[in-house]
Amino acid sequence: MTPATSFRGTRVALFGLGGSGLSTAKSLLAGGADVVAWDDGAAAVEKAKAAGVTVADLRDQDFALFSSLILAPGVPLTHPKPHWTVDKAKAAGVEIIGDIEVFSRERALLDPDAPFVAITGTNGKSTTTALIGHILRQAGLNAEIGGNIGTPILDLGPPGAGRVHVIECSSYQIDLAPSLAPTVGILMNLSEDHLERHGTMENYAAIKERLVAKADTAVVSIDDPMSSAIADRIATAGGAVERISQKTALPAGVYAQGTRLVGGKTGDELADLAGVGSLRGLHNAQNAAAAMAACLALGLTPEVISRGLQTFPGLAHRMEQVGHAGKVLLVNDSKATNADSAAQALASFETGIFWILGGRAKTGGIDGLRPFFPRVAKAYLIGEAADEFAAALSGTPHEIVHTMDRAVEAAVRDALASSAQEPVVLLSPACASFDQYPNFEVRGDDFRRLGLERIKAWDEEHAA
Ligand code: ADP
Repeated sequence: MTPATSFRGTRVALFGLGGSGLSTAKSLLAGGADVVAWDDGAAAVEKAKAAGVTVADLRDQDFALFSSLILAPGVPLTHPKPHWTVDKAKAAGVEIIGDIEVFSRERALLDPDAPFVAITGTNGKSTTTALIGHILRQAGLNAEIGGNIGTPILDLGPPGAGRVHVIECSSYQIDLAPSLAPTVGILMNLSEDHLERHGTMENYAAIKERLVAKADTAVVSIDDPMSSAIADRIATAGGAVERISQKTALPAGVYAQGTRLVGGKTGDELADLAGVGSLRGLHNAQNAAAAMAACLALGLTPEVISRGLQTFPGLAHRMEQVGHAGKVLLVNDSKATNADSAAQALASFETGIFWILGGRAKTGGIDGLRPFFPRVAKAYLIGEAADEFAAALSGTPHEIVHTMDRAVEAAVRDALASSAQEPVVLLSPACASFDQYPNFEVRGDDFRRLGLERIKAWDEEHAA
């Protein structure tokens, strides 16, 4: 844990005790702050109380007595409308911040040069965060990995030499972290997402820009126009920028040429991702290029980084290789909850895709995926979207199977019987899971369990 000693002797209000909120409350308490916490959920309040946190309804508190309001990232700061605690804090002139800001102040106090890598972007944040953490650990460094992925930042060890923090930051967290200034800041990409929470695309992009604008080294993709403009602005302002691309050759920085990562300055090959199953696809070339640029900025050699890339186990539910039933590879990409993400998965296999999709459809459905349909040997439709997607898939073999168990059974059977040499049964639903599952993780777990059963059955049938 990182005790928030920079808040010693202050009185702070904290709202939002689910997720990272309780971790922040504990850090502030350990640092010597006087914390008054609240949440509208009774269970979260009880849990905090049991952990020794003072709880009281903040509606009844005089905000003039607080020095800060700490918000959990899920609580609206601006859109669709400010939370009532935000209105109260603003009326009293109290600053509004989050856990990344608390960490940043601790770092400024303890060791402003403590290595700190912060990652944001619309897509690929978790993969890139995990990948950098893996590379650093493989290199023998003590990497603390967390933030928006896994462990809340203040549950990790304090910033200091000999420890590298690798932190995924959502735009909500950046919005609450005015002094965020990492050693390496990474902006993966920008496309429309979460606009209900940020109003306009410009506002969303401006928030993301703050993470890289104050970094010692900014690693920024130039593959979309908004990110590219941000890279230019930082360079114009005199900042150090390492540009990355998965499609364009660059005079400096790191770019992907097929599966090869190439270093701009010398044009040398830095690493080859061929055969690395966990980093299949162009989108992962972007993630790997970002990890390469970040680790080079931290002083690692291309050889050491390359070894880390080769051994990356991948993240669950993101192009996760479940295993082989005979010649059939099973891949769990349950995290693909929209068509854009599913496109990345479909683009990763040239032919022989036995595609399981469906759930609760997003606006636009799968119409945008039409260019990939020739790669699909057959589609298996589950969940609410089945009829809509069946219509979209007319001309491509498909079957409405409704549930995951039937989908896995039918897809593996057909893939084994097919003439394809390396068929893949791919769960990449292009839909939210909420019609049939609590979340995409449970959906992916279900697919993996059913897949592993099918693999075991195949192994038993073919033993001896
Ligand atoms: P995030 O944490 O930003 O949501 P993840 O690393 O969890 O991103 O990946 C989520 C999904 O987004 C993946 O399953 C994949 O389909 C897609 N994806 C991953 N990396 C990228 C990228 N660099 N560009 C576009 N899409 C990506």
